[in-house]
Amino acid sequence: AKQKGKNRFQVYHPSMDIESYKLFTLEQDMRKALVNDEFILEYQPRVDTKTGKILSAEALLRWSHPEWGRVSPLEFIPVAEESGFIINIGEYVIRKVCRQLFDWKEKGLSIVPISVNISPLSFLKNSLVSMIKEALDEYHLEAELIEIELTESSLINYSENVISVLKELGSMGVKIALDDFGTGYSSITQLKNYKFDVLKIDKTFIQAMDKTAEDAIITANLIQLAHGLNMKVVAEGVETFEQFYSLRKNECDQIQGYLFSKPIPPSSFEQKLLIGSLK
Ligand code: C2E
Ligand code: CA
Ligand code: CA
Ligand code: CA
Repeated sequence: AKQKGKNRFQVYHPSMDIESYKLFTLEQDMRKALVNDEFILEYQPRVDTKTGKILSAEALLRWSHPEWGRVSPLEFIPVAEESGFIINIGEYVIRKVCRQLFDWKEKGLSIVPISVNISPLSFLKNSLVSMIKEALDEYHLEAELIEIELTESSLINYSENVISVLKELGSMGVKIALDDFGTGYSSITQLKNYKFDVLKIDKTFIQAMDKTAEDAIITANLIQLAHGLNMKVVAEGVETFEQFYSLRKNECDQIQGYLFSKPIPPSSFEQKLLIGSLK
């Protein structure tokens, strides 16, 4: 359904095929879900490779649909990207994360920065920077507590506009990570466009690392490349000790993956923060 136009799903028409109908329904339900608070966030820790300490976490969106149950973001995010509704989702997630950080702070926990996935589409709206600023101000948070994870989307390339918004956020103190690095959507050319703070190596490399020598060599060299450009490196999708040892040997800064923790509900993440706070 990728080739279909932006506003295709706004109005239902009886001649729609079944796939379009499903997408149309999904789109309508997403709009309701935001109002009815059917979306929740889970948090996946990012840990220091050397110490195992939790340095930050990625906020990942979950949707429990009243009829279908849990719907994967892999299903609904692309639909939201196509209709532009992803911009509303982005704002929802930023605000929810800020409120969560505020609550944890109120409880006396030592909080860590949270990274949020923001679609490049949001960067084309002039209001992104002011929206983030307002959310931070409302909850009295430092900009350093929010990190934006960005991938190039299939719909849009990095324009001058996107770069200037990145620079504005960067000068505010918001950290920017280049997500899914090494995949089709996030390539080496992006490194010339902006000075990213963090490089996230895609899980396809990490998970093939202990199977093929090529992936191990590519990963080792990506880490060197990122360090040469003054970026921190995060390995995504770390599931085995072999992957972890090899990443540690190659001086990868941070690890994210099932080996340490799956994405977990706020209450469980809070327990982990509590343990960190006691030390
Ligand atoms: P992503 O940004 O690359 O997020 C990482 C995905 O890898 C998450 O899938 C996470 O659960 C999964 N993952 C983490 N560790 C492991 C591991 O060790 N093994 C395996 N096999 N998987 C692991 P999830 O939560 O299903 O999200 C899928 C994608 O949906 C995300 O990929 C992101 O592109 C998108 N997404 C999720 N939440 C949001 C959101 O709030 N906004 C936007 N724009 N996109 C989101
Ligand atoms: Ca991400
Ligand atoms: Ca990723
Ligand atoms: Ca992704």
